[in-house]
Amino acid sequence: MLKLFAKLFNRNDRPTIINIHPAVNRGITPTNNTLNGGKLQCHCRLNKVTVSLEGQTAHNHICGCSKCWKPKDALFSQVAVIPRDKVTVTANADKLKVVDDAAVIKRFACKDCGVHMYGRIKDTNHPFYGLDFVHTELSAEQGWSEPTFAAFVSSLIEAGVDPKEMGAIRSRIEELGMEPYDCLSPALMDAIAAHVAQQKK
Ligand SMILES: [Zn+2]
Ligand SMILES: [Zn+2]
Repeated sequence: MLKLFAKLFNRNDRPTIINIHPAVNRGITPTNNTLNGGKLQCHCRLNKVTVSLEGQTAHNHICGCSKCWKPKDALFSQVAVIPRDKVTVTANADKLKVVDDAAVIKRFACKDCGVHMYGRIKDTNHPFYGLDFVHTELSAEQGWSEPTFAAFVSSLIEAGVDPKEMGAIRSRIEELGMEPYDCLSPALMDAIAAHVAQQKK
C-alpha cells in the first residue's frame, strides 16, 4: 500500500532533500559568544560516554572526508576544534577506543554506539597539535561556534556519491551560508603552510 502511494506521487515532483548534516539542514544556529563550554554525550541509551568542554569551540566546519564521524545518512560530518587542555572525559572513559591507530588524528569513539567523542593529534610537529577535534551536535547546549565552510567536498565521490550530484550539493552548502572547499579553508591551509615554513627555518 505504501509502495503504491509512493508511485502515485511521482518522486520527481518533490524537491530532493540533500542531507548535508542534521545540525545545518534547517539552517545554521548562530554562534553564542557567551557560551563557555558544555558537555558532549555519545548515543548510548545507558552509560553514556561524557566529555566536558571548558570553553567555546573554533573553526567549526562540515567535512566530507571518510575519516570523520558522520551521523546516519548525513553526507558530511560537523567538526570543530578546541584546545586539548579544555577537553576532559568525565564519564565512561573505559568505553572509548581509538578508531584507527595509524591515522594522524587519533579518533576516540564509543565502542558501543560508534560515536566519535574527540580526536587528538599525538605528533607534536603537526600544525594542529594542541587542538582536539569535536562534534558539537553531541551537546545539548546551543550556540557553539557555527560552521562557516565545508572541507573536502570532492571526497564525497570517493565515498560513493555520484559526481553528477556534486553541483547540487555544492549549491546547497552555499545556500546554507558556507563556502565549499576541496581541502581545508584558505585560512587553515595558510596556517599549515606557515607552520611548515617556520619549521624549515
Ligand atoms: Zn556510546
Ligand atoms: Zn573529515
